[in-house]
Amino acid sequence: MNPPAIVWFRRDLRLSDLPMLLEARAHAPEAVAVFVLDDALCRPSGAARTAFLAGCLRALDADLDGRLLLLAGDPAHVIPTLASQLGAGSVHVSADFGPYGATRDRNTERTLAALAEPVPLVRTGSAYAVSPGRLHTKAGGPYRVFTPFRRAWLEHGWHSPAATGPETLRWVDPANIPGRISLADAAMQLGEGWSGAQLPAPGEAAARRRWAAFRADTGPADGGVTEYHDLRDRPDLDATSRLSPYLKFGCLHPRTVLHDLRHRNDPGATTLRTEFAWRDFYADVLHHRPDTARQNFNAKFDAIEYDTGPDADAAFTAWCAGRTGYPIVDAGMRQLAAEGWMHNRLRMIVASFLTKDLHVPWWRGARYFMTQLVDGDLASNQHGWQWTAGCGTDAAPYFRVFNPVTQGERFDPTGDFVRRWVPELRGIRGKAVHQPWRLASYPELFAHDADYPPPIVEHGEQRAIALARYGRL
Ligand code: FAD
Repeated sequence: MNPPAIVWFRRDLRLSDLPMLLEARAHAPEAVAVFVLDDALCRPSGAARTAFLAGCLRALDADLDGRLLLLAGDPAHVIPTLASQLGAGSVHVSADFGPYGATRDRNTERTLAALAEPVPLVRTGSAYAVSPGRLHTKAGGPYRVFTPFRRAWLEHGWHSPAATGPETLRWVDPANIPGRISLADAAMQLGEGWSGAQLPAPGEAAARRRWAAFRADTGPADGGVTEYHDLRDRPDLDATSRLSPYLKFGCLHPRTVLHDLRHRNDPGATTLRTEFAWRDFYADVLHHRPDTARQNFNAKFDAIEYDTGPDADAAFTAWCAGRTGYPIVDAGMRQLAAEGWMHNRLRMIVASFLTKDLHVPWWRGARYFMTQLVDGDLASNQHGWQWTAGCGTDAAPYFRVFNPVTQGERFDPTGDFVRRWVPELRGIRGKAVHQPWRLASYPELFAHDADYPPPIVEHGEQRAIALARYGRL
């Protein structure tokens, strides 16, 4: 009888459309399903993300009929130890292209190869529709600009979803495997039930439900795919897919979504496809330039002058707490703290405010986002920040500085979003809520309810300072 295979789950916490399961079955009919709690990844993740992860693991375990093996430690040691104990013939993963994941996998592969009975690490598929490193410019290099990448991405296309499910393999009962930790212990370590944020329902079934509702224009959203093109910039509406937490942990694969959209060319479907191209683009950029997780993609911007010292620290603290005195910025930051998620338009507004109004370097904001976001993803996050700061790939021209008042008036036209998240301002009607300091009642408003701060800086002045600094580059 064939020795069992090991199926090592990481950012692919699902059983359908999971090509590595087919590859594992080609090696052995029986497999151990394992997830390793890796402190190097869990520690910097933030409570909302690890709590969501705990729920996803619970859901995966239920789908596997209680046969998910949970281990803890450095995977480069844990996985080869497990392979020896089981006499496994192969270890299967979806390829990871992130800087940490790729190194971890190379280390694990080396240790597996050094066992008395060497075991191969088999990479099949990835978390992307088109894996990083697959597309090249005509000159043979990586893409640095989104639009030609998107064109090549569409031309390249993707596979149909893989026909997999819980029955693809016979799952070994892990009850007696040494080092096993219980789901309850793992969930406790990951902070499941942490009450700080209202998290989405975890797991594959929940992901599929959300996608099915969005695709069919039903469900909790104010508009689904059909209205996506027109409404996706409105944070006051529930009009985007909200699939990002599920994509982060692979509860749903982008290929599944793109396949479901294959016969649709209406503006909503076309725009949604483009957003998935952005996700693949940033992963591709980070794959080729892992240094951009911390450094400017465009080195010309290394000379930009940022503020440091106690005043900059105080400004950063006010920004994190949603207390800048700019209602749309504060509403976004408070949504982030409460839901572990923020609307894309707001991510751009608050990132612009931090870097161009408060002159705090983008990486401080990016690091804070990574501790808060359920969907926190190094590639999309760092490059979303760099795009806004102006130092990234085909960046918004550096001189584009978002005006927090006009952005608020345009994308939260009724002011409802601000009132939802900034209760101090609920007494102000309509879009006047975006600049409370202009109200005749402003002095009394703030005298009685001193809780909401006046603007921390004057946008016009800071914009001029930012432009002068960028201009000096
Ligand atoms: P939808 O509008 O429904 O889009 C569908 C999917 O397309 C998203 O789930 C996402 O996977 C992808 N997508 C959409 N916009 C982008 C984009 N600009 N870049 C890359 N992929 C995109 N996204 C993350 O997944 N993780 C992050 O850590 C992250 N950090 C960001 C930080 C900043 C400063 C900015 C400006 C953007 C960031 N984004 C990040 C991108 C985007 O804001 C989120 O993907 C989106 O808001 C998620 O909500 P949704 O699923 O409803 O998106």
